[in-house]
Amino acid sequence: MKPKLLLATNNPGKVAEMKALLDGLPLDLLTPADIGLTLEVAEDGQTYAENAARKAEAFARAGGLAALADDSGLEVDALDGRPGLHSHRFAPQAGATDADRRAYLLQQLAGKPRPWTARFRATVAVAAPGRETRFAAGTCEGEIIPEERGTNGFGYDPIFLVPEFGRTMAELTMDEKNRLSHRARAVQNAVPILREILGL
Ligand code: IMP
Repeated sequence: MKPKLLLATNNPGKVAEMKALLDGLPLDLLTPADIGLTLEVAEDGQTYAENAARKAEAFARAGGLAALADDSGLEVDALDGRPGLHSHRFAPQAGATDADRRAYLLQQLAGKPRPWTARFRATVAVAAPGRETRFAAGTCEGEIIPEERGTNGFGYDPIFLVPEFGRTMAELTMDEKNRLSHRARAVQNAVPILREILGL
């Protein structure tokens, strides 16, 4: 039987990416829904690593399984690194959508000189019952553009231009995004940790 790994996220965009990224490993990948687990973890840590650890550890404890979580964000230089850790909550209105957050970000950047250089950053945490939590990180450099392009991906993808491709992240296929994204790099860097913890 293959070792089980719980993908500790409720974000369907992240689940799809992580499943594709971990596809080559001899693992039984489970989502919280697969094991009937409903869990909301407060992301009130001071760093990506702290938030990723909170999610991975809470899901590992609740599921009694090894769990992998990521915490990620978008850092825009012209906004001194914001929204950063607060990327998911970056919009004043309650119940804001990804589209609202993109519109709010562009509003904050209006009038500031371009290029609006930025990067996505991700930290992955791997937690397992009775083991110390381990971490891996990844970044992806790019530029925010003022008009939305593409419909793939999620979050800020339609306004994040990847210079090597001349396309936004939302114009990349998932395979392309998974070759260069912050999450892809962090998950890649976490593979040796998974091999060790799960004995692959
Ligand atoms: P969290 O990691 O669940 O706290 O969410 C981070 C937030 O950063 C997401 O909800 C998105 O708004 C943004 N984000 C993180 N990764 C990506 C990505 O790959 N594409 C677009 N937006 C992202």
